[in-house]
Amino acid sequence: MKRILVTGGAGFVGSHLCERLLNDGNEVICLDNYFTGKKQKIIHLLDNPYFELVRHDITQPFYIEVDEIYNLACPASPVQYQYNPIKTIKTSVMGAVNMLGLAKRIKAKILQASTSEVYGVPDVHPQNEEYWGHVNPIGVRSCYDEGKRCAESLFVNYHVQNDVLIKIIRIFNTYGPKMEPDDGRVVSNFIVQALKGKDITIFGDGQQTRSFQYVSDLIEGMIRMMKTDDDFIGPVNIGNPGEFTMLELTSEIIDLTGSKSKIVHLPLPQDDPTQRQPDITLAKKKLNGWEPTIPLREGLIKTIAYFEQLLKEEGL
Ligand code: NAD
Ligand code: UDP
Ligand code: UDP
Repeated sequence: MKRILVTGGAGFVGSHLCERLLNDGNEVICLDNYFTGKKQKIIHLLDNPYFELVRHDITQPFYIEVDEIYNLACPASPVQYQYNPIKTIKTSVMGAVNMLGLAKRIKAKILQASTSEVYGVPDVHPQNEEYWGHVNPIGVRSCYDEGKRCAESLFVNYHVQNDVLIKIIRIFNTYGPKMEPDDGRVVSNFIVQALKGKDITIFGDGQQTRSFQYVSDLIEGMIRMMKTDDDFIGPVNIGNPGEFTMLELTSEIIDLTGSKSKIVHLPLPQDDPTQRQPDITLAKKKLNGWEPTIPLREGLIKTIAYFEQLLKEEGL
């Protein structure tokens, strides 16, 4: 049995990770400041004696003894990370320093949840890990993109300078149950709009692409990455190569929900990446043949069922 710290454990991805790690027989400490996370996502785990919940902000030092750390704390939706951009940078950078300082002191292995956003508006397609990215350092997305890029640099330098055992994964757009209905991300927005019969808000002409990964595929990739040999530190892309335009996503969701919603086009936000698709050759090679198993349509069916239930329960 390992003792594992999950920062951002009350968030969308973190809550799935806590559940999986407990099911695998580990002791889990879930740390969160509840900025975008919610207790409801992990409330069902509270009866488990091997689960502990800590309210803490990773921009402050934190002392604990664990074997492994998954560092997920950071808002991930553009609306949420742009709400307080300075805080987003502090969480990515000061949070990384604190968690790396912790890992160094206790000799724990630490995994960083980095992002496909480090590639910015990419001029290489699909994106592989060799590509350095094309990021606007002063744009509205820079608090997140540059924060995560600086965190990657911190991780690599703690590894080189202080022998900290690190793992870096670059996560591509992930969706699934336990997303928040109002988090502003495209999958949650479109499904909730479709279920409520409201206009579906496509930003720009809808020709921009994303590659959507179902959350269980991500969790499997994360856990396999943590288990790789110490000399493999990444970064490694974890995503589903199936690439769709936002117009295609809309028609899938309208089809699956039978919604009568109309499409409206709103202005495209600044620096919105035009295309995004992971090259997962490295992940397949290093993570024991890992690859996504849930196609978009199947994942959307599960996610729509979750939102239908949630909207009913909350009377929305
Ligand atoms: P989320 O917003 O649901 O979860 C983030 C969690 O971190 C929340 O519970 C939030 O309360 C917590 N948090 C934020 N700032 C904190 C702080 N200073 N101290 C302690 N806790 C803090 O987002 P998510 O989708 O679950 O993303 C999890 C991680 O994965 C993030 O680091 C994100 O950047 C990364 N990621 C996610 C995606 C995706 O598509 N979901 C894509 C790329 C990267
Ligand atoms: N830190 C922490 N928990 C620990 C050890 C360190 O939160 O168990 C934080 C502390 O704030 C420290 C930072 O991690 O400033 C970086 O630690 P490091 O040892 O790299 O450098 P220091 O700042 O101590 O010189
Ligand atoms: N998007 C959209 N309508 C929405 C929300 C998002 O058309 O209501 C678009 C957005 O402009 C982007 C894509 O969907 O091109 C994915 O947006 P999201 O915020 O989910 O993630 P990210 O841009 O970080 O990949």
